[in-house]
Amino acid sequence: RAKARGRATYQFFEAALAETAYADLVLEAELAQGLTHDEFELFFQPQVDATTGQLSGAEALLRWRHPQRGLLSPDAFIFVAERHRLMLALGEWVMREAAATARRWREQGLTAGHGPMRIAINLSRMQFHLDGFADTVKRVLAESQAEGQWLELELTERMLMEEIEHAPTTLAQLRAMGLTVSVDDFGTGYTSLAHLTELPLDKLKIDQSFTARLPDDAGAQAITRAIVQMAVGLGLTVTAEGVRTAAQWQLLSSWGCQQLQGELVGLPMPASEFEAWVKAR
Ligand code: C2E
Ligand code: MG
Ligand code: MG
Ligand code: MG
Repeated sequence: RAKARGRATYQFFEAALAETAYADLVLEAELAQGLTHDEFELFFQPQVDATTGQLSGAEALLRWRHPQRGLLSPDAFIFVAERHRLMLALGEWVMREAAATARRWREQGLTAGHGPMRIAINLSRMQFHLDGFADTVKRVLAESQAEGQWLELELTERMLMEEIEHAPTTLAQLRAMGLTVSVDDFGTGYTSLAHLTELPLDKLKIDQSFTARLPDDAGAQAITRAIVQMAVGLGLTVTAEGVRTAAQWQLLSSWGCQQLQGELVGLPMPASEFEAWVKAR
């Protein structure tokens, strides 16, 4: 009986595995079709200056208007795109769309508090891993008639550590073109402090798992405060992600965190909604 049960369990897992593999294959085909059918869209989430509350920029977050399943967040499909080279095409689409949007905003006179609105985009490991990534950025900027100053690139600690040999050169090339370089979800990875000082970076984004535990959790307080102090000491800008309450804003700002992003200010919105939101402020 035990043997029979073991066999049944095995068959169950085998079936489940086949189903998952099949679902991924379908998703992969749909992703490719989605690209040609223009089903992807960028949502924009405002980033503000923690002291003045003035708008400082926006983060572009990818959405997929799936013909059957409706609006999908990246967590539902990025992992499949990343397993295939599709992520390169999708990533380039994001860059192109962000550059075109930044240009349109300039033409419309839609600005941040201190000047042109910078759009931050999230990079995938695959994009950063590719030889000549800086050249790709350069080409996309030229084709979009956009300037490097209009864009910010968000990389994760893991991406930086995996490319530790090439990262300094690539980042330096990107910054020489005027782009801002940020480390996303900071505090969740394993970047050594020594590496942080060696890399040419502009900004650290404190992961929302820390922000979420503020203001009461002593551990989150200690870590967040230490990250802010270290970043400031290294001359980096600090942005806190996922800020939901005034108490969180107050605390982060008292520690020297310069920028905020989160529900308290605004959730990601379609471009037209974001434009109306900026004008209404
Ligand atoms: P991320 O870059 O860390 O983006 C922050 C995520 O937190 C976004 O989820 C955003 O909608 C959400 N968020 C922001 N503020 C709040 C808040 O106050 N409360 C809550 N509960 N959530 C908040 P989203 O848009 O689902 O994106 C998830 C992740 O997918 C992103 O995390 C990023 O790593 C990745 N991603 C998004 N767009 C792209 C893209 O164009 N390319 C690549 N490679 N990855 C992307
Ligand atoms: Mg991000
Ligand atoms: Mg993040
Ligand atoms: Mg994330």
